[in-house]
Parts: sequence; C-alpha cells; structure tokens
Amino acid sequence: MSGLTIDADACVGCGRCVRACGSAGVVVEGERGARRARVTDGCILCGACVDACPVDAISIERAAGDAALIDLSAHRDIWVFAQTDAEDRVLDVAFELLGRARELADERGCALVALLAEGAGDPGASSARQLVAAGADTVLRCRDERFSSRDAGVFAEWVCALVRERKPETVLFGATVFGRELAPAVAVRLQTGLTADCTVLAIDPETGLLQQTRPAFGGNLMATIVCPRRRPQMATVRPGVFAAPAPDPSRAGEVVDVELDCGAAPRMRVLSVAGSAAGDSIATAEVLVVAGRGIGSKKRLPLVRELAEALGAQVGCTRPLVEAGWLEGWQQVGQTGVSVAPRVLLSLGVSGAIQHVAGISGAQTVIAVNDDPAAPIFASAQYKVVGDCVSFAEELLELLRA
Ligand SMILES: Cc1cc2nc3c(=O)[nH]c(=O)nc-3n(C[C@H](O)[C@H](O)[C@H](O)COP(=O)(O)OP(=O)(O)OC[C@H]3O[C@@H](n4cnc5c(N)ncnc54)[C@H](O)[C@@H]3O)c2cc1C
Repeated sequence: MSGLTIDADACVGCGRCVRACGSAGVVVEGERGARRARVTDGCILCGACVDACPVDAISIERAAGDAALIDLSAHRDIWVFAQTDAEDRVLDVAFELLGRARELADERGCALVALLAEGAGDPGASSARQLVAAGADTVLRCRDERFSSRDAGVFAEWVCALVRERKPETVLFGATVFGRELAPAVAVRLQTGLTADCTVLAIDPETGLLQQTRPAFGGNLMATIVCPRRRPQMATVRPGVFAAPAPDPSRAGEVVDVELDCGAAPRMRVLSVAGSAAGDSIATAEVLVVAGRGIGSKKRLPLVRELAEALGAQVGCTRPLVEAGWLEGWQQVGQTGVSVAPRVLLSLGVSGAIQHVAGISGAQTVIAVNDDPAAPIFASAQYKVVGDCVSFAEELLELLRA
C-alpha cells in the first residue's frame, strides 16, 4: 500500500505543507503550540508537501508497481489512438494528432505508432495506409467484431494490453465524446496521468517529458502540466486544435496485426443509432467568418452572412453573441465552444480573449479586423486590419460581388 506518513514528533505545525497542497490533502490542527499536520482523504500522493516540509517530517511510501518503482527508461515511442466512425473510417482528429505527434517524435528521435481498431466492416488496407501517409511509422491494427459495439471498455482492454506489452512513452487521444470516455478508462487501468483538452503539446527531447498545455482556472491562464513519474503520459486534444498534415502516399511504414484478448467482452449492444439533432458543425469549415461583439448589433448579421456566402465560408462567433441569442451555440469558437482549423479565418470585431483564441490555433491564415490596434487578436493573426469591421465587411462584399 502506498501512503503519506507524517512524523508527529518532527512536525512543527508550520503549515507549509497545507499551502503547497493543491488538493486539500493535508491540514494542520491542534492547540496553539501543539499544532500538527494530518493527512486527509484528499491526498493524491503528489509529493508537493514532502518537498515543502522544512523539517523532513513528511514522507511517501510507495508500493511495488507504484510510481517510484516505474522504470521510465523502459518506455519509448509516441502512440496515437486513431478513432474511427461506425463505418471504420478514420476521423480527422486522428490525422491532426498524427501531424503534431510526428513533429514530437522527430524531436524526441522515436517512432510514431497509430492504434487502429476496426469492427466488422471490411475497409481493406486503406485506413492503415492513410495513417502511414499521415506520419505513422507503424500501425498496430486489430480487426475484431467486438469493436463494433463501440464499448469503450473493450477498446480500453485492448489499448492497455498493448501498452503493458510494448511500453509507449506517450499516448494521445482525440477529445471526442468517445475519446473522453476511452482515455480516462485507460488512464485508470494503467494508473497514469491524463491531461484533457490540451491546446499545445511540446516535448523535452532529452527526457521525453511531454509538456501538456491547456486552459485552467476558468480559462484565465494556460497551465502546462507534466507527468514526471508515471508512464505512459497521456493527453486528449480536441478536434481542430492541430492542422492535419498533407498526406504523403510515398511514406513507408509497417502494419502489424495484433489480437484483442479473448476475455474482453462488450457490456453493451447497439440496438439502433438515433440521428443527431446537432447536424450543423463549423469544426471542419475550410473558410470561416467569425463575428465578435465589435460588429455592434444583431442587425449586422445579414451582412456577415452575405459576406460568408460570397467567400464560400461558414459563420462562427464569440461567446457573447451566443449569450445574446444572436447566433447558435454550435457556432461558438473557443474553449467552451468548438476548435476550428480552417484554411482561412476572417475575424470581425473580436477582441481575442484567451478562451476564444484557444479554439483557433489550428487555423492556417487568420485575418483580423479590429479598431483597437492593441487588440490581443492581432497576436494570432497573419493579416491585421486596424479599422471598422463593418465598413471592412461592406467594402469586401462589394469587391467580391464586382
Ligand atoms: C470559462 C470561460 C470560457 C469562455 N469560453 C469562451 C469561448 O469558448 N469562446 C469565446 O469566444 N469566448 C469565451 N469566453 C468569453 C471570453 O472571455 C470573451 O469575453 C469573449 O471572447 C469576448 O468576445 P468578443 O471578442 O466578441 O467581445 P469583446 O471582448 O467585447 O471585444 C469586442 C472587440 O471588438 C472591437 N471593436 C468594437 N467595435 C469595433 C468596430 N466597429 N470595428 C472593429 N472592431 C471593433 C473592440 O476593440 C474589441 O476588441 C469564455 C469566458 C470564460 C470565463
């Protein structure tokens, strides 16, 4: 059993452990002069209090198989879970992850492996080939009827068995509805860390430590999270955060067929699939016009829509426009909306709050129009227009029509 131990004789009740703890895992209590630290149920054995204690009164005992005993050097390579749809087609988010993971693997000097679980369909070799063309060195493919159930437990058994056998250093998942179910199921079974909804991933080429950056504290700051003692390091990334690489059909890679353990049984059966009410999405828009509060009034929306139509674009917006009821929730771009990765994004009257720009990092070219030259959106834009966004939209529309 692992556990935190506080030596009551050594403890001086200074409270530094309490201040260092991020999970209310330790308290200081008792009469003045006899105050002592006590561990609570909130303790997650992170070790912050051990480092903070000035008199070495706190220690952590870790059981066999626990963090301290994991041989980090035995773990190698970056894996990407390539999620497929009901027809066994690989989702765009898998290609987006492979694009960024390829860069990380090259920095680290390791291999990039894609995990492909296919159900009953017969997609031939095309999905595996696509994953190689997107950057994978190896595709670990398993074809098994049991995957058709879409039961995350079955997928988790499969991923965990492969991880235990082959010891990857990092595993990435798309933060789709399914990925958000699968990744935690894997993390719990492997007793490792998982950072959800990352917007930036970087790697220390020497140690392989993955720097997983995501908005924290209500999106008011960006936190970079590391997993120094457990392997694999795991993160989810929302669709649209990274741009998918152009496929390179000439890339070489191997496809290795692997098995699903015979004991893995689905706990559910899909009887029927209901159509989604929310069919509309801007997540895959090639060209996007994003309206912010700077457009001034709901009456300007027809102008925004006409401009979007003339550009062959879809319309997105910032959160205040959704809150005001001007546009729909599915059109909101950002941390609590959709992450987008269009070729071109035209941003009209958007300030560029951190929660908004968290959703546009995958855009290839951003053109921002704002009347404030110091607007933060300009830091995310390649083309910066300081001026009135309404006049800009009217003039551009006129030009396009001409
Ligand atoms: C937990 C949390 C999550 C959030 N999630 C999201 C999210 O997912 N997406 C999101 O968008 N926001 C989100 N927000 C809100 C976010 O913090 C900002 O408040 C919001 O993005 C601001 O929207 P805006 O830029 O349209 O409005 P404003 O901040 O009001 O900015 C309007 C901009 O328009 C400019 N402007 C004004 N008039 C003109 C004009 N005539 N011509 C040109 N420019 C003009 C101004 O200079 C200003 O820069 C979230 C906030 C929190 C706390």
